[in-house]
Amino acid sequence: MKRKALFLDRDGVVNIDHGYVHEPRDCVFVDSIFDVVRSANHAGYAVVLITNQAGIGRGYFSLDQFQAFTRWMLSEFDQRQARIDQVYFCPHHPQFGLGEYLLACNCRKPQPGMLLQARDDLDLDMEASLMIGDKQSDLEAAARAGVGHRFLFTPRGAERVDLRPGLGVLIEELRELSPWFTQEQTAPTDVNGAPQPRLPTIQHS
Ligand SMILES: [Mg+2]
Ligand SMILES: [Zn+2]
Repeated sequence: MKRKALFLDRDGVVNIDHGYVHEPRDCVFVDSIFDVVRSANHAGYAVVLITNQAGIGRGYFSLDQFQAFTRWMLSEFDQRQARIDQVYFCPHHPQFGLGEYLLACNCRKPQPGMLLQARDDLDLDMEASLMIGDKQSDLEAAARAGVGHRFLFTPRGAERVDLRPGLGVLIEELRELSPWFTQEQTAPTDVNGAPQPRLPTIQHS
């Protein structure tokens, strides 16, 4: 049987997006991220980071720095008994990339390349999988890749995002999704016919 996945954007979902975070001292983890990942682990989901890292292509930090930071981040999860299984990143930028990184690629979100790669590498059931992002482009990429359940994380007080109808569901706290992984997947469907979690705090877009 194909495996389900929890796809996570990184900046703004796993860590607070201060802009081009690439060092542990700049990394502040988002509240409840470890709980959500742990819940997904226990439910047998693959947990996959899908992140645009144009800071590499723009020369703001090196590929080595990114990889070192990623290893550090994964170990922070490990120490909390939470596991990120795989990390996909796009180092390109279509206008500001330097050298080989100047590229209109099909991996930079909203393109679905990274998600499709994950699907093939890990043999994933995309329709049954979830994406959590903090930008419309995250959900756009997920929709194009066939990810069935898409959530836009907009913490209270953050700038409101006008989500295109049908693209996803707004959540204000990550912990709203923890029950998703523990309850039977028999959620009722919303008006668009897309299955929705039975969680009282979720606001429909
Ligand atoms: Mg983000
Ligand atoms: Zn790319």
